[in-house]
Amino acid sequence: MPRGQDSARGLVFYESEEGQAMSTQAVMSTYARTDLVFERGEGSWLISANDQRFLDFNSGIAVNALGHAHPHLVEALQDQAGKFWHCSNLYRIDGQEKLAQRLIDASFADTAFFCNSGAEALECAIKTARRYHQAGGRYEKYRIITADNAFHGRTLATIAAGGQAKHLDGFAPVVDAFDHVPFGNLNEARAAVTEETAAVLVEPVQGEGGLAVATDDYLKGLRAMADEFGLLLIYDEVQCGMGRTGNMFAYEKSGVAPDIMALAKALGGGFPVGACLATSEAAEHMVPGTHGSTFGGNPLAMAAANAVLDVMLAEGFMARVQTASKKLRSGLDDLVASNDSVFEGVRGRGLMLGLKCHVPNGDVVSALIHEHMLTVVAGDNVVRLLPPLTMSDEEIELALEKLDAAAKVLAV
Ligand SMILES: *Cc1c(COP(=O)(O)O)cnc(C)c1O
Repeated sequence: MPRGQDSARGLVFYESEEGQAMSTQAVMSTYARTDLVFERGEGSWLISANDQRFLDFNSGIAVNALGHAHPHLVEALQDQAGKFWHCSNLYRIDGQEKLAQRLIDASFADTAFFCNSGAEALECAIKTARRYHQAGGRYEKYRIITADNAFHGRTLATIAAGGQAKHLDGFAPVVDAFDHVPFGNLNEARAAVTEETAAVLVEPVQGEGGLAVATDDYLKGLRAMADEFGLLLIYDEVQCGMGRTGNMFAYEKSGVAPDIMALAKALGGGFPVGACLATSEAAEHMVPGTHGSTFGGNPLAMAAANAVLDVMLAEGFMARVQTASKKLRSGLDDLVASNDSVFEGVRGRGLMLGLKCHVPNGDVVSALIHEHMLTVVAGDNVVRLLPPLTMSDEEIELALEKLDAAAKVLAV
C-alpha cells in the first residue's frame, strides 16, 4: 500500500485503491495505533498489506479464539448471510434460543440476554443486580463492590466500575455506585459491605489489570460473603471466559458459581456479540420492557457464536487448550530464566498468560513486532500473550523463539 508522510502536520497518509489520500485522523484518535495494516488472516497468522506474516498472540485481544478464517465459522456466517441478517427482538430468534440453551447447559445459568459487547454485558449484569433488589422492595441496594485494577468496559457505568483514573479523566461526574477493594483481599471486601450493597463484581482472571488470578479460596470467600449478606455475585468473564483458561469458563476450576456472568470477546470468534447469563432467581424481575438491545443477538451474531460453540464443545477441545498451555508455560518459564534482565516472571492461566517485565512492556511489544509477532500490553508492566486456542505446537515453539530473539535485543 503506497504511503506518504506529512511530517509537518504529523499525519500519516494511506492511499486507498482509488488513489485518494486518507488521513489517519479521519478516525477519532482514541487509540495510539501501531502503523500496521492487515489484509487477511490464516489461522494463527495475520498478513499485512505488503504480505508480511505476523504470528498473532494478541488475537484481537482474546477475541479470535479460533484464529482467523476458521472454515467452520466462515461457512456458518456465509450460510446465514444468504438467509437474513437482522430481525427485531420483537420476534423469536431461533439462533438465540439455541445459543442460550447451550450456554445454560455449559454453565451455572438458567437464562441469557444477548448484546453486542463486553461493556453492554456488564451493563446488563449491573442492571439485573439492581433490579433483583429494587423490584424485590430493597430500594436502598444499588452499590457494587469491585476490585482495584479491574476493567469492565468504557461506558459511563463500566469506567466507574473499573475505577481507573486514566479511564475516568475528563468524564465527570463519575457514576457513584462502586466501592473498590484490593483484588484478592477478602477481609477488605467484607469490610466494604453496607446496607446499600447489592452485589460484588470480579474478574476471575484480571485481563487488562495484568493477569492477576483469583484463587479458589478468594472466590469461595466471595460466594460465602454474598450468601451471608444477601448480595449477588457477578463474574466478568468477558476476557477469561470461553475456553481461554483451559475450561469453558474460568470459574469452573474453583467450583464456585456466580449469580450473574458477563461474556463477550471470544463468544463470536470475531463477530461482535456479548451475553449476560444469570440464574432464574437473579433475573426474576427482568421482565418485558426492563431491558433491550436493537442489534443484540441478531441472526448473524448467533450464527457466529453457535459455530464457535460447535468447535469449543467438541470432544478434546479444552484438553488441547490445557496441553498447549502447559507447553507454552514451561517454555515461558525457561525464557524468563534465561532472560532475567528483561522478564521477571510468568502470570495467568491457560492461554491467558502474561510476562511481567523489568523493561517497559511497550518496548517488548515493539521488539516483538520486529520479530513479526503480535502481543498486547496489560497493567502492572505485563505483556499479555493471548494466542488463538487452536495454536499448534510448532507455532508455540516459533513464538518462544521470537520471544527469545526480542529479549536478546532488549537485554541490559
Ligand atoms: C474487554 C473487556 C470488557 C469490555 O468489552 P468491550 O467489548 O470492549 O465493551 C469488559 N470486561 C473485561 C474483563 C474485558 O476484558
